[in-house]
Amino acid sequence: MTRFHDWKVVVTGGTRGIGRGIVEAFLQQGAYVMATYTKNDQEANLLKEELSQFGDKLFLEKFDISNSEEVKQFYSRLEERWDRLDVLVNNAGIKSDQITALMKDEEWKRVLSINLDGTFFMSRSAIPLMMKNRFGRIIHISSISGKMGLSGQVNYSATKAAQVAMSQVMAKEVGKKGITVNAVCPGFIETDMIASMTDEHKREIISEIPVRRLGLASDVAHVVTFLATRESSYITGTSIDVSGGLGS
Ligand code: NAP
Repeated sequence: MTRFHDWKVVVTGGTRGIGRGIVEAFLQQGAYVMATYTKNDQEANLLKEELSQFGDKLFLEKFDISNSEEVKQFYSRLEERWDRLDVLVNNAGIKSDQITALMKDEEWKRVLSINLDGTFFMSRSAIPLMMKNRFGRIIHISSISGKMGLSGQVNYSATKAAQVAMSQVMAKEVGKKGITVNAVCPGFIETDMIASMTDEHKREIISEIPVRRLGLASDVAHVVTFLATRESSYITGTSIDVSGGLGS
């Protein structure tokens, strides 16, 4: 039997990039997965098409994680479909880089509302469901940007550091209910988020990474699935870097 046979897993931002890698890893190991997204139907439909071999084990859900009402409605639909929730991966996130002195209110607020409010709204509704079953895994996809601080990312870095702090708080609150909460901090991973970088900029970054390559979504998925296993029950309130050694 596969490791996550018939587990119920939600991955926010699961239709592209790192989230998609995480969705695939759980499906391959037997789970039912809800992959959420907010606007890009084309990528979502492509995912469904390309992963058609998993049939009715993959569900798509379109809503905005920064809107608390939409999050509540999502959980109502989830409870109609599933009897429990085993794993929540808070992966959806955006960046909108600008140096501090020039950052507009809108750039600051948008990143905070999706990365921070979204993580909070999704976790707040997941916890009671997991408590009912006395088991759960909440995994926040943070970033090494939250630990080392990258120039131009005052909004993004603040949210990513906050996700690590949120893991520590939530872990203390729910540990005795069989729920663990951890953060994974990727370095530079090849996704749309870094597609706008020039080749020269990418080369410069790679020269700073001890293992001399960009990361893959599957590198992150590997750690997420490790944290999700039953055997990882003694790991909580912590963060694991997946950065090829960058920032350590
Ligand atoms: P990505 O390729 O840009 O994909 C983002 C995903 O999040 C998409 O599915 C997107 O949906 C969804 N999303 C965006 N805003 C949303 C909202 N308001 N509500 C619901 N879903 C929303 O991102 P990625 O590069 O894979 O990054 C995933 C996570 O890893 C992020 O939290 C990011 O901060 C973190 N991370 C990434 C890197 C990296 O190098 N890529 C490094 C460190 C950490 P649509 O397709 O509908 O837009």
